[in-house]
Amino acid sequence: MNVHQILIIGGGNAGISVASQLLIKNKQLDIAIIEPSEKHYYQPAWTMVGGGFFKAKKTERSEAEVMPKEVTWIKQRVTSVSPEEKHLVLDDGELVRYEYLIVCPGIQINWDGIKGLKENVGTNNICSVYAYDQAPYVFEVIQSLNGGTALFCSAATPVKCGGAPQKIMYLAADYWRRNRTLGSIDIRFMNAGKILFGIEKYRNALQGACDRYGLKQFHRHNLIEIDAENRRATFEVKDEEGSKSLETLDYDMIHVTPPQSAPDFIGESGLGNERGWLEVDKNTLQHVRYPDVFGLGDCLNTPNAKTGAAIRKQVPVVVENLLALIQNKDIAGSYNGYGSCPLLTAKGKVVLAEFDYSGEPNETFPINQGKERWSMYILKRYILPWLYWNRILKGKA
Ligand SMILES: Cc1cc2nc3c(=O)[nH]c(=O)nc-3n(C[C@H](O)[C@H](O)[C@H](O)COP(=O)(O)OP(=O)(O)OC[C@H]3O[C@@H](n4cnc5c(N)ncnc54)[C@H](O)[C@@H]3O)c2cc1C
Repeated sequence: MNVHQILIIGGGNAGISVASQLLIKNKQLDIAIIEPSEKHYYQPAWTMVGGGFFKAKKTERSEAEVMPKEVTWIKQRVTSVSPEEKHLVLDDGELVRYEYLIVCPGIQINWDGIKGLKENVGTNNICSVYAYDQAPYVFEVIQSLNGGTALFCSAATPVKCGGAPQKIMYLAADYWRRNRTLGSIDIRFMNAGKILFGIEKYRNALQGACDRYGLKQFHRHNLIEIDAENRRATFEVKDEEGSKSLETLDYDMIHVTPPQSAPDFIGESGLGNERGWLEVDKNTLQHVRYPDVFGLGDCLNTPNAKTGAAIRKQVPVVVENLLALIQNKDIAGSYNGYGSCPLLTAKGKVVLAEFDYSGEPNETFPINQGKERWSMYILKRYILPWLYWNRILKGKA
């Protein structure tokens, strides 16, 4: 039977970063990563692909290129974990044992969570930046629209990068402004949530962008069905008291944020909370029932923004706490819920939102980050992608 000292589920942003940082601390560690995909993606650039100024190909590299040389790569998918017995099962039925487990398989995109979406996304002006092979079609649709109604929908579940459904809307509006068609397009933000953005400082900046483009906001509107042939979308609308009703709208294009959840095997293996998210302590990132299990990234139950920026602050905490556990020392590393969202409001403008569990801004730069800025756009467009491939995945940032 296969046995490893540290087993990591998922070779995405979190899995590769944590393996690299562990190896920087101790080259002797026996680490294996279970990752079925031959490809690795820089997902934060997919909104820019949808906006038409970043090539999809540039967001993709081979997994082999980012996998640390010292790591054993198991090219399989995990189907179940037995945390009591400290082993897991792979797609091919093989059993792998571990001493310590890091769970970071990202988020599951549930395309079938909206009736009519799965079979029609990528056709008929139904588009989404939430997949590598879908993002280029978003720009095709934006380019082809000269008038009519454009719906941009958020989701009722937690999603990766909660700002992305708005960013693509602002980029589309900016494109139409440049092409002088903005006045002929009725742009609507169909938001399953209650407000535009949770933190007032950044909400004010986004409201400014909405006003500038003439965007209309519809809150508590959750997309439940698309009739692709007739271009009609149905929303479940909740009023202030929580009563629900249905509303159907005609559209000319629709951008969809699919519902998302933790991968099913987490809940099925007894590692999840009541909604299936990996149940860790929000500060130590150690599992609340299985001390030899840690979690990272989008699959967690923690109330931070599900972003790569959060992972950059989570990884050193897991490294510190796991190494302490291996050496029988007390666990002292603590994650404060930091997350960040570079909110693109135009090609050339970004509001860099940064915040933590307190729900207050927690900013890096000594300038007013509540303003739309060219400098923050340069960070988003050029510096962060470079940092990701050259520093973050190598455990150096
Ligand atoms: C459109 C969009 C815009 C975004 N914008 C930003 C942004 O501006 N800023 C920011 O910081 N973040 C942004 N993000 C979020 C960021 O990309 C994610 O938070 C980050 O990639 C999560 O890392 P992860 O390692 O948890 O998951 P991922 O990077 O998704 O990796 C998970 C890995 O696990 C593997 N896996 C899945 N299931 C299994 C299994 N059963 N067994 C083994 N392996 C498995 C997958 O193949 C995958 O490689 C954006 C995301 C999207 C989609």
